[in-house]
Amino acid sequence: LAENRVSITVVGASGDLAKKKIFPALFALYYEDYLPQHFTVFGYARSKLTDEELRHTISKTLTCRIDKRENCSDKMEQFLQRCFYHSGQYGSEVDFCELDNKLKEKEDGKIANRLFYLSIPPNIFVDVVRGASRSASSPNGWTRFIVEKPFGRDSESSSELTRCLKMYLTEEQIFRIDHYLGKELVENLSVLRFANLVFEPLWSRNYIRNVQLIFSEDFGTEGRGGYFDHYGIIRDIMQNHLLQILALFAMETPVSLDGEDIRNEKVKVLRSMRVLKLDDVVVGQYKGHTKGGKSFPAYTDDTTVPKGSLTPTFAAAALFIDNARWDGVPFLMKAGKALHRRGAEIRVQFRHVPGNLYKRKFGTDLDKATNELVIRVQPNEAIYLKINNKVPGLSMRLDSSNLNLLYSERYPREIPDAYERLLLDAIEGERRLFIRSDELDAAWAIFSPLLRELEEKKVVPELYPYGSRGPVGAHYLAAKYNVRWGDLIDSS
Ligand code: NAP
Repeated sequence: LAENRVSITVVGASGDLAKKKIFPALFALYYEDYLPQHFTVFGYARSKLTDEELRHTISKTLTCRIDKRENCSDKMEQFLQRCFYHSGQYGSEVDFCELDNKLKEKEDGKIANRLFYLSIPPNIFVDVVRGASRSASSPNGWTRFIVEKPFGRDSESSSELTRCLKMYLTEEQIFRIDHYLGKELVENLSVLRFANLVFEPLWSRNYIRNVQLIFSEDFGTEGRGGYFDHYGIIRDIMQNHLLQILALFAMETPVSLDGEDIRNEKVKVLRSMRVLKLDDVVVGQYKGHTKGGKSFPAYTDDTTVPKGSLTPTFAAAALFIDNARWDGVPFLMKAGKALHRRGAEIRVQFRHVPGNLYKRKFGTDLDKATNELVIRVQPNEAIYLKINNKVPGLSMRLDSSNLNLLYSERYPREIPDAYERLLLDAIEGERRLFIRSDELDAAWAIFSPLLRELEEKKVVPELYPYGSRGPVGAHYLAAKYNVRWGDLIDSS
């Protein structure tokens, strides 16, 4: 209701994520008139800052959309005047009581809803939830908590975290964020499939040979490897972001677009998946490399990484969904740091044309040119379908070309950041893009035995040069299932 207040508290407001993503996303929502009329933003952390100091810090990271520059600085100033700061300890209920008093002052006795964004290291999640839920919950509206990954390191630690959170919160209050689900092209996956007649009938083992989910970064840990080393690429990217995309990609048609209906279907896919085995995984780690007179460091040169670390910075895996739709179709995942390109994409390789007339008549290697649908999540968002086409002219030559939907051409306006979508959904109570606890349990069940085995057997990762395409082992793994990796080469 228009009179209702919404108070958004960013816990860990002095940190990197808050500055880089959360405050800019809140400002973008404000600027586009998506935030409720009466809102207040509070930063909470241990650092001693005044309201003015917080405003000064965050003002440096706020930006306006390229196509909407008018009134930008006025809007920024209005937004900053609604931002406040409270310094407190994460485990102190007294400090959260003080925050509660300040929130009440701003809320002016009206119905007030409260959103807490936990942008803090995971070891203090539970302290904050305890303090904030006991001492700073809304007296008359809803209270919700957005939690950032990591949600544990394996099935046991994840269950323990869920158990502890549920001592203070109901499942409905917990919004587990996976920012990949807020990305425009990931949201569009369901539209592509369920709002077009041409794709859904092909969406099964009958027509699809394999599906590839690829994540690639062209930089290493660059002095921030301490956190990463404790988790590694499988926990950091595969078990959450890539697996979430896979579940959305492969789910059955949900009963409706309601969040619970969609999450029910995703859980079914995850629970139908085979537990990942060591034989179906390749792990790698980048090593130092000199190229064009420039030296690039090895992962273990990062001073925040323990000497001799075996943590994978690259992994490739073959996963399977044992249900009627996907039986026998390999879902290949590949994720790595310090590779030759940056990007994230989904590649769907279709089967060969049975009894292909052109292959029979012309004996070309047309067999290789199967249709491929590529959904490029980032950068330079695009959807394209590789088709076989006749090269114009009097002779019969075929060519593999793209039907190409390049977002920057079709939709020149800037695409909102994933955090904008997710923050707005959390405020509106839309849970579709957040991870439910049973989804999380099912996701960990697929990866936990493998992660344990890698650590117990101290599996040595295959080294690959910084800036390369990753370890050759990934190609052997794909070849085992008769798959050739698509190449991010088309992303320019
Ligand atoms: P961060 O900068 O390391 O930490 C955020 C704030 O938490 C710090 O400003 C600090 O505030 C407090 N803090 C840091 N270490 C602490 C400790 N050991 N004990 C108590 N307080 C501590 O983290 P971040 O990069 O902003 O990320 C926040 C959370 O999001 C993390 O859990 C991270 O795993 C997750 N995440 C981050 C990213 C990203 O892009 N950075 C992406 C995905 C997920 P005070 O000292 O002022 O209290």
